[in-house]
Amino acid sequence: MSDIKNPPQPIITVCCYCHRVRAEDGTFEHIDLSKAIHRGFSITHSMCPDCVRELYPDQAEDILESISTDDSLSKPREL
Ligand SMILES: [Zn+2]
Repeated sequence: MSDIKNPPQPIITVCCYCHRVRAEDGTFEHIDLSKAIHRGFSITHSMCPDCVRELYPDQAEDILESISTDDSLSKPREL
């Protein structure tokens, strides 16, 4: 049985500061975004841990925690 007519559109998370892209294992790396966009991927912006720690050293852990739990959008949360 193959009922995959409308596979979910993949979402790419991009760090808005260094523009690296989050890989499946959670690490951030540089990829050619134009290819991903061309393939119909959606882009969402976030921050990679490196940039969070550099920009907000005092609040880094709190911010990273909120980002890591941000996948469940049903749970509204303010930064
Ligand atoms: Zn970054």
